[in-house]
Amino acid sequence: MELQLWHGRLNAKRFDDALSTIPVRVLRRMRSRLGHYAPAQRGQPAEIAISTRHVKRHGFEQALQTLLHEMVHQWQDEMKLPLGHGPDFREKARAVGITARAKRSVD
Ligand SMILES: [Zn+2]
Repeated sequence: MELQLWHGRLNAKRFDDALSTIPVRVLRRMRSRLGHYAPAQRGQPAEIAISTRHVKRHGFEQALQTLLHEMVHQWQDEMKLPLGHGPDFREKARAVGITARAKRSVD
């Protein structure tokens, strides 16, 4: 899947290359969520996962919006901010060009 490549592109274009390169995985077994960001834990590196079904059902453009959403969580984590959807999330989401619509049912 090209999403790993897009993580690099969006990092350069929208985040001024501020984010680390982390694995972006596309997972079949994600039932209710479109994507998630998992911080590093117990020796495992941080990663972003995107649901295969989400890509198939909503298309690549929407999947990129979800990737951007998860990248804002990555940014929060790397900035030592708490993960969540508070004011700092909303401000950064606007700055990187996430549309309001894409926020539905994304963790
Ligand atoms: Zn979220």
